[in-house]
Amino acid sequence: MKQIINCKSSECPKEWVALTEGDNAFTKFCHICFKKVLFVEDAHLSEDYIKSGAIVATRLAESN
Ligand SMILES: [Zn+2]
Repeated sequence: MKQIINCKSSECPKEWVALTEGDNAFTKFCHICFKKVLFVEDAHLSEDYIKSGAIVATRLAESN
């Protein structure tokens, strides 16, 4: 399951599939918080993106 891990909005759907399609396969747009969301495959790398201020989604379960 792909989920946003650092969105502050309680209204945010958090789920990658619920987001609006972006410019490419790795970006989408959350229409609730009006922010671009970046998909990062590697959960370790996602921390760096979060520190730089990005809204990040990553794959939470290995089984999916
Ligand atoms: Zn959001």
